[in-house]
Amino acid sequence: MKCPICQKSVEPGGGWVPFCSDRCRLIDLGNWASEKYRIPAPLEPSAADQGEPEQHEQPERGQGQ
Ligand SMILES: [Zn+2]
Repeated sequence: MKCPICQKSVEPGGGWVPFCSDRCRLIDLGNWASEKYRIPAPLEPSAADQGEPEQHEQPERGQGQ
């Protein structure tokens, strides 16, 4: 097993698996965070939060002719 940051071999059970140390763990965390900032999260208006959704369609009706 190798540290994804510095490619050093990592001992399983070292405490920072899969990283070799806390330092590499933080580096990876920083990379992940910066990556997150790069991708703009789609903010949708929470219309669904406004109570129950209105039902305009009538289920199981109007099928017979
Ligand atoms: Zn490392």
